[in-house]
Amino acid sequence: MILLEYEAKQLLQRATIPTPMGQVLRQTDDLPVPCVLKSQVPVGGRGKLGGVRVVQTTQEASAAIRTMMELAIKGHRPRTLLAEEVLDIDRELYCCLYVDRDKSTLRLIAHKNGGIEIESHESDEFWGRDIAELPDDRIGEALAEYYSLTEQTFVLQDLIKNLYHCATQEDATLIEINPLILTRDGRLVASDCKMELDDTARFHHPEWQFEQTAPSANFVTLNPHGTIATIANGAGLAMATVDAVASHDLTPANFLDIGGGANTESVLAAFRTIMNFPGVKGIIINIFAGITRCDEVARAIIAAREQLVDLPPLFIRLAGTNYDEAADLLAKHHIPILKSLDDCIIAAKETIA
Ligand code: GDP
Ligand code: MN
Repeated sequence: MILLEYEAKQLLQRATIPTPMGQVLRQTDDLPVPCVLKSQVPVGGRGKLGGVRVVQTTQEASAAIRTMMELAIKGHRPRTLLAEEVLDIDRELYCCLYVDRDKSTLRLIAHKNGGIEIESHESDEFWGRDIAELPDDRIGEALAEYYSLTEQTFVLQDLIKNLYHCATQEDATLIEINPLILTRDGRLVASDCKMELDDTARFHHPEWQFEQTAPSANFVTLNPHGTIATIANGAGLAMATVDAVASHDLTPANFLDIGGGANTESVLAAFRTIMNFPGVKGIIINIFAGITRCDEVARAIIAAREQLVDLPPLFIRLAGTNYDEAADLLAKHHIPILKSLDDCIIAAKETIA
């Protein structure tokens, strides 16, 4: 589950990691200016797409709020904006703690030049340490040296310790702070944060009440960088679908069993969640409908194509209850149904290549 920025920052604050002062905007009055307005969508790259704006006056703020609430970013319209103090930036750094699944460790990576251009850096340009490698304070020292900020050694030691506590206590699999801003008056502030929580740890956390909840308890992230997402019904078929994708040398991003009671809204929620995975190039939908109805799934597919601007290509196999109605609906919208799961995977593979 990927949190919105303001939700991620609430968890950072709980771990005593400094964030800018701010408020979630529910209405436009008494907004302090100047401020930064930030669209609360579950995707990055907002800065380049009009989703982060500094405003100087109240009038400018009202106009910006109206525009930003209407502006879809990578297919997502915000429900809220975050208003924050404007930071006086000296440097923008990058810092990220994540679960390295290949090595089964928590890994800290960093870059001297954070901010909106971070994706253009090759992965071997990043500084990195496994958290188990050194005690916290030595990693802090090493990081301070790497950033050329030795005067901030203690602050960085604290930051790493707090990030570690945040990850373990909140069951986060990724905490990416970008940018970590060094202000001209020498403060280090987490100006933006992307946080992913481990869906399978939900039972530890009755307190989890986020806007972007997972579409169902049966959604499991398998690989945040996966290229193929899957939607199936029934745990057995959902597992078989994931296995089939993997056996064709594709990387499944998720497991999802939409269950018997799936309706348009819950399937749409599944599409929205999948759109948070940056690497997904195709979605395979494999439904063998018993209690689930094919026409309900078809309606969700049509709604998703209309509402989600950047929806990746869909590869659909449907069978069972109300198939004929579903086939008619999809045909009207020129959405093809494929004959078998194999056909879906082969078509997906060609699209990716
Ligand atoms: P993202 O593009 O979705 O990652 O959104 P960010 O929150 O990272 O903001 C993008 C960029 O906006 C940052 O890299 C900064 O350059 C700029 N920005 C964000 N907050 C502030 C601020 O308080 N002051 C100034 N001057 N720039 C900011
Ligand atoms: Mn950012």
